[in-house]
Amino acid sequence: MAAFEQMDRAELQSELDRLKEEYAQFKAKGLSLNMARGKPSAEQLDLSLPLLSCISSAQDCIAEDGTDCRNYGVLDGLPEAKRLMATMLDDAPENVIVGGNSSLTLMGNAVARCLDFGTLGSKPWAQYPGIKWICPVPGYDRHFGITESFGIEMIPVKMNENGPDMDEVERIVAEDDSVKGIWCVPKYSNPGGVTYSKDVVRRLATMPCAANDFRIFWDNAYSVHHLNPFKADQDQLLDIAEACREASNPDRYFKFASTSKVTLPGAGISAIAASPDNIAEIKKRMATTVISYDKLNQLRHVRFLKNADGLAAHMEKHADILRPKFTLVENELTMGLSEVGGCTWTKPRGGYFVSFDAPEGCAKRIVQLAKEAGVTMTDAGATWPYKHDPYDSNIRIAPTLPPLYELREALNVFVCCVKIAYAEKLLA
Ligand code: PMP
Repeated sequence: MAAFEQMDRAELQSELDRLKEEYAQFKAKGLSLNMARGKPSAEQLDLSLPLLSCISSAQDCIAEDGTDCRNYGVLDGLPEAKRLMATMLDDAPENVIVGGNSSLTLMGNAVARCLDFGTLGSKPWAQYPGIKWICPVPGYDRHFGITESFGIEMIPVKMNENGPDMDEVERIVAEDDSVKGIWCVPKYSNPGGVTYSKDVVRRLATMPCAANDFRIFWDNAYSVHHLNPFKADQDQLLDIAEACREASNPDRYFKFASTSKVTLPGAGISAIAASPDNIAEIKKRMATTVISYDKLNQLRHVRFLKNADGLAAHMEKHADILRPKFTLVENELTMGLSEVGGCTWTKPRGGYFVSFDAPEGCAKRIVQLAKEAGVTMTDAGATWPYKHDPYDSNIRIAPTLPPLYELREALNVFVCCVKIAYAEKLLA
């Protein structure tokens, strides 16, 4: 088949007619398929079922330092849980606070604290007429939801294959002291699957910022989520803490991680790591609103995952389940669309998503068509601040939740919708 752009109008119209028939057949099946959210499949959740049996007696509730985890206390986390989460955060246990079931909550609370109190003696951000935030795009919709909810002005900056466009980031932070932060998913990013290069990490750590209380929100949600089984093929990330210390900006970052996509989303444990001064401040403020987090769950996680090696072995089991799904996405998109032209997509080495760029002006139409045929996708625009993709192009594909046979069907529908939207655009 010729590329759509090479067809004359009559050829393209007859192709569109054919596609609409194919689409009607999909619709008639009454499908109900979902490629919207980055959720593990039931098969992946089963991997963590033994976690629930790690505590079954009073004796099991005692931590290594003798703490009875059934009771209040130990706000910043059990020593063994700090050690475990430190491996995910690539940091020292003493710089870690173990939180509750959501790293997103830790992030939202960190923004709120800076707004209300400033940080390390700086003016509370809420006292500025307005503050701004750098949002690499495409990015994670819930990050953008946090900053939007606080009325923070979001500035999109393009993601390149090595991380955000640093020339642009450096320019923005240098000139305006109301620019207070940046969202980063530095490894296997959501949705692009990008791991920041050493150069990008160093530039973030060293760049001159007009705001001396500028903070990098380093959400390492996919730090151990490799798809490749061999270490040599797995991405490595330079430690932002080390880079910031070397650059004499030791307080510039907050690191976040959780076990949401390691064990049980919504029933895992989260953690924040930061410089000693930041950690002391966070603990002080945190202590006013929480007495202690769920230490029994911390114990369960330590006993189940054990240490960095145990974590890696567990993640390999996830990768074995996920790899065929990502391969399927790559194959179906290549077979369905490479000859049609106009579209690009990522081939991630880790994480949970494929980032798909449709021809400009087509994304909303594609997602709408898919929905009407029973395939739910993440809303078009969701990967941009304010849900506004100025190109109406990017769509996040989340292939992890459906079983393979459902994923194949959903991708067939998706490919058909992409072709319809593109043909309609060219004929308009
Ligand atoms: N950060 C990123 C980049 C994510 O993709 C997700 C889950 N989709 C989260 C955070 C949410 O993490 P948690 O469950 O720990 O709040």
